[in-house]
Amino acid sequence: MHCPVCSSENLSDETDYASFDNHARFRDWEPGILQWKDLTIGAERCRICLQCGYLLLLCSAEKLARLKAGRPEV
Ligand SMILES: [Zn+2]
Repeated sequence: MHCPVCSSENLSDETDYASFDNHARFRDWEPGILQWKDLTIGAERCRICLQCGYLLLLCSAEKLARLKAGRPEV
């Protein structure tokens, strides 16, 4: 893995990242009890480029698996 800004491979170890309200939203992803629910994916892990400081943000493995699986069959 390398930094997309400066191409350095000198990155920190992966660690937790708190993103609060920043997230990607896939609307009407799955049926809920009363209405369709959105799939929201935020950054939960990160690595930092030790050369230029760029933050590489990563979502959780669980959210990535849900996204890769696609919308559930109804
Ligand atoms: Zn960099």
